[in-house]
Amino acid sequence: MTLQVRGLNASYGTSHVLFDVDLDVRAGETVALIGRNGAGKTTALHSLMGMVARLSGSVRLDGKETIGLAPHHIARLGVGLVPEGRRVFGELTVEENLQVALRPGAERRRWTQEEVFEVFPLLANVRRSKGAWLSGGEQQVLAIARALVGEPRLLLLDEPTEGLAPRVVETLGEQLRRVQRTGPAMLLAEQHLGLVGELAARAYVIDRGVIRYEGAPAKLLGNEEIRRAHLSL
Ligand code: ATP
Repeated sequence: MTLQVRGLNASYGTSHVLFDVDLDVRAGETVALIGRNGAGKTTALHSLMGMVARLSGSVRLDGKETIGLAPHHIARLGVGLVPEGRRVFGELTVEENLQVALRPGAERRRWTQEEVFEVFPLLANVRRSKGAWLSGGEQQVLAIARALVGEPRLLLLDEPTEGLAPRVVETLGEQLRRVQRTGPAMLLAEQHLGLVGELAARAYVIDRGVIRYEGAPAKLLGNEEIRRAHLSL
């Protein structure tokens, strides 16, 4: 699935948060959206999902305009969101967490439960554990798997490394590379630049709701001026 965003503006009531955002994700490509806290990453992902009430501009999925469509409609077009903070159901087991997300009636199912456990052996080992008992890293992989069983062709990931220890971030990177090999396009909102450098072909830097820079992650991360001005790293 291709994503083409042009002149996207988003507001919460009278508070204007995104300003004329242009952004592209090509089929099968992984693109990063990086910026510090409050830069507008979550708002951008929520806007693509139709979850922000006041939007203008254009968001095209495979050429189809989606501004004004409801979130469930956008999900059905093939967009999956892995929300910030994981939000797994603590009282449900790993299997039950996946079952509630299964999309009924999807033909040619790619992500059956067994396929999930094959790609993520880490989850297979805890399949009967309650969500609340899992480690942060396991919960994050479960949140990703839960989005995948909806058969997305574009996966939006909101700061998956948040709150994870460095060693766990490494494991998460490996799991995300497995997801990449299965084909969906990905838009990865992150502050963790190591992960971005590892996974993304291109990156955008967002600061106070404005895209300030676009380019290869390596180039961008090596640019002191951009890092200081827009990422404070
Ligand atoms: P974080 O990593 O902290 O989530 P972010 O880059 O994802 O940061 P957003 O959560 O998109 O940033 O926030 C962007 C701006 O929009 C911030 O100034 C924030 O205060 C504001 N904002 C976010 N959600 C709302 C809301 N529901 N109502 C009003 N303002 C909001």
